[in-house]
Amino acid sequence: MKTTHLHKQEQTSRRDFIKKVGLAYGGLVTTMSYPGININGAKNMVLRFKPYELQLKHTFTLASSSRKTTPVMLTEIEYDGVTGYGEASMPPYLGESHETATAFLSKVDLSRFKSPFLIEDIFNYIDALAPGNYAAKASVDIALHDLVGKIMGQPWYKIWGLNPAKTPNTSFTIGIDSPEVIKEKVQEAAPYKILKVKLGRDNDREIVSTIRKTTDKPLCVDVNQGWTDKKQALDMVSWLKEQGVVFVEQPMPKTAIDDIAWLTSNSPLPIIADEALQTARDLKHINGAYSGINIKLMKCGGMRAAFTMAKMARDMGMKVMIGCMTETSCGVTAAAQLSPLVDWADLDGNLLISNDVFDGIKIKDGKVELPDRPGIGVNKINS
Ligand SMILES: [Mg+2]
Repeated sequence: MKTTHLHKQEQTSRRDFIKKVGLAYGGLVTTMSYPGININGAKNMVLRFKPYELQLKHTFTLASSSRKTTPVMLTEIEYDGVTGYGEASMPPYLGESHETATAFLSKVDLSRFKSPFLIEDIFNYIDALAPGNYAAKASVDIALHDLVGKIMGQPWYKIWGLNPAKTPNTSFTIGIDSPEVIKEKVQEAAPYKILKVKLGRDNDREIVSTIRKTTDKPLCVDVNQGWTDKKQALDMVSWLKEQGVVFVEQPMPKTAIDDIAWLTSNSPLPIIADEALQTARDLKHINGAYSGINIKLMKCGGMRAAFTMAKMARDMGMKVMIGCMTETSCGVTAAAQLSPLVDWADLDGNLLISNDVFDGIKIKDGKVELPDRPGIGVNKINS
């Protein structure tokens, strides 16, 4: 493609983009697709990407780590004057970063495809570019779904044939903290009908008891692999049931599959896999060991993979929940398109940050409310 074919606005936005990325990376990024029209006059899909740092409202503490920011990559695919938005969220413990996503996305050449509707072909190509890189792959998948939905003039829940009245309640996460801060967070979570509590350190009972002094709302619990003894885990799950907990997510290390299978078969509560599964391929390994799965777009590579996994898990008789990382409303609203298919949603990642750049999903009376807008249903509110 020749730059002489770019009109002025495209040249300016390209320059701005190169400038921003160049500033963030000291000139590391030099390769990207260019907007425009190819030499034969056919329309091209153009992928753009920009690193961004999410600022968290509270320090986020899990069983094994703490942090105040999350690196994300904001993507756009433009085709015939329509722009689809996407996002890769990359919490450090998952191994992706601005650098890895930049390296991966620099390899993507969408100009080889004549139409954005060739979703299967495009994702076979994206998958084959490199192993792993699931968040980076998701950022292309989400932007492509947004683009295609916008061209069709329909939101994805409609394209998938899902009933928007069947969206579930979504939980609001209360991180591990001092009793005083936990009380404050419970009050912040007033609009939610279900709370999610992160456990897995040495004060689990104290945290749950503190929350129970403030509210009797149902709780779900995420241990993030923090328990190591299966009998102690069963004691804890039984106690949590008495405390009004509805399910327990990833109670033990993902490698302890036999212990988890034992726990699930004895547990009075559903045991949900999160860290133990990445893509649909993992479902057959964990089937029988867990009662259900937590699907996240950033883990499985995007909306297409997530939809497939939700249907497969349902066919296997498993419970399904949809979750997210700390993300802008772009990633969270894309995930919400699937939510009429699931038992539980944990879609609060956009509410945990102070510098969102999109408007999308809303929570009404604790329930996911899908925007009546085409594509993934977001508007850009900041750049
Ligand atoms: Mg989890």
